[in-house]
Amino acid sequence: MKVYLSSTPEVESSEVKEVFDLLTQVVGPIEFKQLPSLSTNEIEAFVEMDDSFENVRLLSFDGLFNLCTAYRRYYYQSQGISKEDFVVVLTAIPNENKWFSAFRGKNIFIDINDWETYTGKNQKYGIAYQVMENIFQSFINLNIELGEVESEPNVHWHPIGCINDMCQNKRDIILKLRTADICESCQERFINSGNSIELGLHIQGEIENIRKGIVRKFLEKGEITPKKVEVRKTGKIYKVFIEGFNNHVDFEAIARTLYVFYLKNLEGVNQFDLEKNYNELRDLYFKMRRGGDEKTLKNLTDIREGNSFYSTVWDINKALNSLLGEGLVSFYLLKKVDDVYKISIDEKYISIDKEL
Ligand SMILES: [Zn+2]
Repeated sequence: MKVYLSSTPEVESSEVKEVFDLLTQVVGPIEFKQLPSLSTNEIEAFVEMDDSFENVRLLSFDGLFNLCTAYRRYYYQSQGISKEDFVVVLTAIPNENKWFSAFRGKNIFIDINDWETYTGKNQKYGIAYQVMENIFQSFINLNIELGEVESEPNVHWHPIGCINDMCQNKRDIILKLRTADICESCQERFINSGNSIELGLHIQGEIENIRKGIVRKFLEKGEITPKKVEVRKTGKIYKVFIEGFNNHVDFEAIARTLYVFYLKNLEGVNQFDLEKNYNELRDLYFKMRRGGDEKTLKNLTDIREGNSFYSTVWDINKALNSLLGEGLVSFYLLKKVDDVYKISIDEKYISIDKEL
């Protein structure tokens, strides 16, 4: 199932792209596509209007859903849009009911105005949330038609931090963006409507990812500086310590070998060039693990299927994350930058035992 994102002509395509880029960060069964906006002429050819589209300052729900249908028809053949696919139109033209967004069947429109006022963040977060909210509501057949929405049991008139909060007071919208929650009753209705857990997980993953961009962060209050990373001998074993932490970073010998190697080669080394540095790695490995097995090291440096380089990098970063937590950890991670793997920390923060 696909979700096509487009906009009315007054919206910049870069604004749609930002929303698209945010939503495609999360992987799952919903596939997002971006479509170009239609021009004023193209819209007028598909939608009957009393006035030129350029002069339209307010749209009814019917008018907006007619627009969605126009986009669906216009792109129907070239994109192969099916009945199961969603068409989402972002617009800066306000709607008569002053709603953030609405859906009818698989058509969705979203008002892009004022999101920065409501969230204090880039508008893409609020808009992307509206995309997911309407998709969710469509999947549970939420009845939002005026005159009927009042008796819809899964619309929460008093905000509880659920995706289906009504938010009559528009400032209440920030609550559900911060919780990224779907309440028990709304989850049950989703499942009882015949939707898969996998689909539910994707929707939840999307709103959780949006939440991370929305919540207030200490890092916006100031910067942090790296602490010294030290490789020193404790007893018979060389371990990696970060200044201020009592525990060492919990690496296996092979991970310690690779990490210390990259600490000594801060300019970075491509994984396929590790074999060229084999002697240096071997020397380190046998200091890290006396009586170690050279096969283990060869399995790290010989890059082919089943080799252990990528899983070792993963182990290293996992161990760093579990010790240091978000923020500080960013100085120490072993990451691919351009063509090489490297640790992006300044040399002055590194201290390595002379024996290594
Ligand atoms: Zn709910």
